[in-house]
Amino acid sequence: MVKQNKKFIEEQKEILLQEKNKIEDRLGSFAKESQEHKGEWTSNMPDFDKSSSLEEEADEVEEFGMRLALEHSMEEQLKAVDLALEKIKKGTYGICDKCEKEIPQGRLKAYPQASYCQRCQ
Ligand SMILES: [Zn+2]
Repeated sequence: MVKQNKKFIEEQKEILLQEKNKIEDRLGSFAKESQEHKGEWTSNMPDFDKSSSLEEEADEVEEFGMRLALEHSMEEQLKAVDLALEKIKKGTYGICDKCEKEIPQGRLKAYPQASYCQRCQ
């Protein structure tokens, strides 16, 4: 069992919670979270109105595609943050998922949701 620095973990938890809020805020600006499946988001469809030109519609379709990609990557980030928070609860935060060694604090500071050490990444 790796001895954990309680204060450090508390700080990391704060950062992770802030990160979670930030991601959810951003996601919420263009997507909706599923009621049945927490953590699953769906991008809002762009609304085409009759007055928009074909060109404008093409722009919106393109924007929607970008939105989907962004939504996907933010969903992944959110999952990683949730996983890290879950680990804090279980007391396994900061331990590499692969080699089960301690992840250096410097790495966790730079990337609080890291689940692998540098070697296993
Ligand atoms: Zn490792």
